[in-house]
Order: sequence, then structure tokens, then C-alpha cells
Amino acid sequence: MSTQTKPTKLIKGATGDWEIVVGMEVHAQVTSKSKLFSGASTEFGGEPNSHVSLVDAAMPGMLPVINEECVRQAIRTGLGLKAKVNLKSVFDRKNYFYPDLPQGYQISQYKSPIVGEGVVVVDMPDGESIRIGIERLHLEQDAGKSVHDRHPSMSYVDLNRSGVALMEIVSKPDLRSADDAKAFLAKLRSILRYLGTCDGDMEKGSLRADVNVSVRKPGSPLGTRCEIKNVNSIRFVGEAIGVEARRQIEIIEDGGTIDQETRLFDPDKGETRSMRSKEEAHDYRYFPDPDLLPLEFDQAYVDALREHLPELPDDKKMRFVKEFALSVYDADVLVAERASADYFEAVAKGRDAKAAANWVINELFGRLNKVGKDITASPVSAAQLGAMLDLIGEGVISGKIAKDLFEIVWSEGGDPRAIVEQRGMKQVTDLGAIEKVVDEIVAKNPDKVADAKTNPKAIGWFVGQVMKASGGKANPQAVNDLLKTKLGL
Ligand code: MN
Repeated sequence: MSTQTKPTKLIKGATGDWEIVVGMEVHAQVTSKSKLFSGASTEFGGEPNSHVSLVDAAMPGMLPVINEECVRQAIRTGLGLKAKVNLKSVFDRKNYFYPDLPQGYQISQYKSPIVGEGVVVVDMPDGESIRIGIERLHLEQDAGKSVHDRHPSMSYVDLNRSGVALMEIVSKPDLRSADDAKAFLAKLRSILRYLGTCDGDMEKGSLRADVNVSVRKPGSPLGTRCEIKNVNSIRFVGEAIGVEARRQIEIIEDGGTIDQETRLFDPDKGETRSMRSKEEAHDYRYFPDPDLLPLEFDQAYVDALREHLPELPDDKKMRFVKEFALSVYDADVLVAERASADYFEAVAKGRDAKAAANWVINELFGRLNKVGKDITASPVSAAQLGAMLDLIGEGVISGKIAKDLFEIVWSEGGDPRAIVEQRGMKQVTDLGAIEKVVDEIVAKNPDKVADAKTNPKAIGWFVGQVMKASGGKANPQAVNDLLKTKLGL
């Protein structure tokens, strides 16, 4: 991309401004019941070596057989990334030694990936919209896991993950800050979760990011990059880029040069450290896997998958802005998770959508965040919140009482309308009753009355007193109108 980097994204060094350049390689575990080339289960958390077929253990003479579901999911992901789907692709062997890689190679895709170039659009909180190019998406096998903490002198190998399908999604070096990278990964995760092609669970390792970082003076050619391997949270991606960019700038400003290498981020120490010098592609001796034919399908297959894609976050956001007259920011917050968007829609349909958005974003999300709960585990259902909005709309309860009602429904459940009835929470619109309270307060406070005549803002004090005396149940508008008359304002 040729667009200039915003000055706010540049970082200051001793010799002037520096620009950060970031590209990402994201490994996303494909959502499928069985592995890429075997029928073994992909389920998380099984007993060690309980989900391992002879293929996954690389027994001699075993042959891989492609799992169509994984192919389908990779194509759907490519379509969701607005990318070119390649009707013919090739599986290659990427040779290297790991104790938890019994084949001695990983089956991956090298020169001919299943998905080519695409794009992800990310809306930043400051209103800027950035377009991040996708270089490719290819299918490959995951390795097993070495376990070092079960025995004082030996390591164990667990092959449950061996052969699980991964999509490696490679971005172009279009990211220009830690915030760009975090927002890109969040958006990518959201798209994958909408598609149902990866659960995006970073704690379980379903989504891991390798982050390529380099720095340069604005307008200069690309600098030498370092790759930070296997960063497993969005926050850590941001932190790792920050410390790595600083490290590189210091070296260059001290007259040194950057060695291309693979590094690890240590979140406890807040530093990256060298893991190994960067290998080149030819070190892996890639060659087409002789056990597998090229992967081929026709355009009709792709078109049928495209036809059944769900509505994705960008489209949903545009629809929410149009259909519900929401701000882009509110719509963006609501569509990040499909379950949140569905919840909002159920509340907003046929109601004041702006009020619905406020309640969902401020009250509900706020409350859920506080207790670390997901929208799917919300104690207040969309039907209950909808009923509360109806009660406000009908003037049965005030906004203030509605917050009390929300707390009751949150902790005790129940039908909001019945609760309002049983607990006498209806707002008082009976003018006679309110007038009585107003008269009492006016009579008791002649000094405040005098004050209000010269300073009309002082009416707020009276409103507060009347609301308090009525236990918050007086209709605020009626109180205001009455007070204005009584005080002669
Ligand atoms: Mn990979």
C-alpha cells in the first residue's frame, strides 16, 4: 500500500521518527471433527496419545487421505477473506526434525496454496479504516507436543495434536503499529468465528500468531525483519511488537544491524529473545508429497459454498447502521461477536434501536465484563431486556427504575413486567400525588425557592428532592413540569 503512515503511528528515536512494519502469519486450527489426513478425533483435552491413528503416528506404509471437511472450511475461509480460491493446489513435504513430529516432515502447501490473495478491512477506533492484504492461506498439519515437566530426566511426547488441520493465513506487511496488528488479529478472529471455520480460542492454542517486525525511516526501503513466534493472545501481540521495535531501533541507532532471526516473546520480562537464526525456505527441502495427488475441485463447488456463507461482520455492520440508524462505532461493537449481534437484533426488532444499543453496550456488556461472562451466558435474556425497554417506552417505569429492575432480573431472573407489578416499581404519573410532594418541598424551602427564581438551574435540586421523596418512582417529566409552574419559572 502506498498510503502514508499517520504521524501518530510513528515512534520517536534518538535520530528522529521511525515507522514500524508488521506482517503476520496466523495459524488457525480448522474446526472439524477429524484430522487433516486421518479419521482421529481433534477434540481438545483427551488423555495423552488417545486421539492418534497409525497415520498420525507415522507408522511405515500408512497413507494420508485428505479430509474433505477441512478443504471445505479452508475454501469458506478464503471466501470470507475475499480471496482468490485456487481450483488446483499442491501438498508439499516440509522437512525438519522435531521429537513430536514422527514423520520427519510436515505436510503443508508451498508454491501452490489453496487460497491466494485477499483483503481484510479493519475499522480503527479513531475512525480510520485500514485495508490489510492477505498474501495466501494454506492447509497444513499441526505437530504433536513434547511434555517436559512430568519426569525429572525424560520428556514425553503427546501426539493428540499431530495431524490436526491448520490454516496458515499470511498477511502482507501492511500493518504499521501495534494497535493495527491487534485490531487486525481481532478482526480476523471475528471473521473465522462467524464462518465457524476456527473457534478462535487462543488459550487453547486454536489461534496463534507469528509476528514479523521491522523498522525503517518513513519512506525508506523495508528493514530486516525478525519473526516473533507463537504469540498466543491479542494483548501479547501488541506488547511484543512494541518491545521488538524499540530493540531494533536502539541497535540501528547505536550503529548496529539487525540479524534476521526467529525470536520468542517473554510476557513476564517484557522482552523478546533470540530462538534461532532465521531459516530460509530452501532449508526445508520442500517437494510435492508423493502420497497425495494435487487437490482439485471445480468452480461450481466453490460457488455453492459461497452461496451458503453466513452474513459476515462487515455486511452486518453496514446493515445495522442502515436498518437501525446506529453509529458505525456502536455497530462495530455489536457485530464483533455473532452472538452479541443476534442478541442485539432480538432486543431491537420493533423497538427504539438506539435505546436497545445503549442498554446492550453500556449496561449488559458492562455487567458481563465485570463478572467475566460471555453474552451466551448472560443471566438477562434478550426477551427480558426487550420487555424492560417496552416498560420504559410505555412510561410504566423511568430509566432510573429500569436500572434497578435490570439488577433484579440479573440476579433473580423472572418476568420484568410481573416484577414491576409485584414490587410496586411503577412510576407515579398521577399528578395529584406528585403535586402533594412538590407542595411540601416548596413550602419547606423558601430560600431555595428564592434562589430558583434568579437561577433557573436550581430547579435541579427540587427535582432531586421530589424524586427522592417518591422513591425514584415519580415521572421525571411530570415533576419538571409541575415544578416550573409552582416556582413560576
Ligand atoms: Mn506453518
